[in-house]
Amino acid sequence: MSKRNRRYENAVRYGRCGMCDADIPLEHFFERGDVVSCGGCGAEYVIQALQPVRLKVQEEEQGARRKRSMKQGGI
Ligand SMILES: [Zn+2]
Repeated sequence: MSKRNRRYENAVRYGRCGMCDADIPLEHFFERGDVVSCGGCGAEYVIQALQPVRLKVQEEEQGARRKRSMKQGGI
């Protein structure tokens, strides 16, 4: 039991798409603020929280200039 606990951190979490009700897999490397898209309907969500998972619909252009975290991702 205890030996497996660590692996749990790397387990894929799932968000729920509000549009089509599909599960959206959030792999362990996703962080708050990242954008994920639903494989079912293509809706985009910003990750608001990971524990528990909370997704917010990515608004199209409307509030375009909200705090955007300028992250330099390593490729
Ligand atoms: Zn969807």
